[in-house]
Amino acid sequence: MRFDIFTLFPEMFAGPFGASIIHRAQEMGRVQIALHDIRAYATDKHRMTDDTPYGGGGGMVMKPEPIFAAVESALRAEPPAMAGPARTGVSLQSPVILLTPQGRRFTQAVAQELAAHERLLLICGRYEGVDERVREHLVTDEVSVGDYVLSGGEIPAMVIVDAVTRLLPGVLGDPAATSNDSHATGLLEYAHYTRPPVFRGWAVPEILLSGNHAEIARWRRQQALRRTLERRPDLLKSAELTPADRAFLETLSYK
Ligand code: SAM
Repeated sequence: MRFDIFTLFPEMFAGPFGASIIHRAQEMGRVQIALHDIRAYATDKHRMTDDTPYGGGGGMVMKPEPIFAAVESALRAEPPAMAGPARTGVSLQSPVILLTPQGRRFTQAVAQELAAHERLLLICGRYEGVDERVREHLVTDEVSVGDYVLSGGEIPAMVIVDAVTRLLPGVLGDPAATSNDSHATGLLEYAHYTRPPVFRGWAVPEILLSGNHAEIARWRRQQALRRTLERRPDLLKSAELTPADRAFLETLSYK
């Protein structure tokens, strides 16, 4: 997977992309991240990337020319083939995504959808946002990381790169590691425990020490259902539930 990120602040990415899973994914050749400084594509002598809004009002707007030039230049360049297991069902058309609080909400399902592409191009806005012609004629998708306003699209881009990268085959040591994650199945994940078996008098649930894998799986499923009901009952409406799940939820007075 290749990510092309268009930003006025490429230096912001060094920390998050230089550690842990994203760093390892790059080392393994599973992920390539290209940072494009939008300012390098401004052609006037002051390298201006923003200007005052037509119609007046406060704030500045990002100019269209450097953004178009940066994205079109990256699209012309052929990305190198990626290492790692062959991927089936990969989509060849690369989405050009504008990060904006006005976009569709980023969820685990959207992360899974984006992970099916070979390449994603992410445009980070700043100030009041980008000139509307970028949205109308360059981008193919608009994504929001939540109903709040950040100062720029850089942190949302990091969120997308992180959530998508951990879904790519070969990136996490255990290929099943993401399948029970919260939101992957439509439910919140069950509770986790590790050693010691008793900490400050608080014991790990006995079932987890029993070695009975079928019973542990049943307990975990019920934990996930109970947590989802308690914290995010809205998720249960669209989760795939078995008759056994429904019977268990009924014991918790969920209809
Ligand atoms: N004036 C814009 C509006 O009300 O829609 C908000 C501009 S915001 C201060 C600057 C940039 O941060 C946006 O262009 C976008 O790239 C990014 N941004 C802010 N909040 C975001 C969010 N929730 N999701 C994705 N990107 C966001």
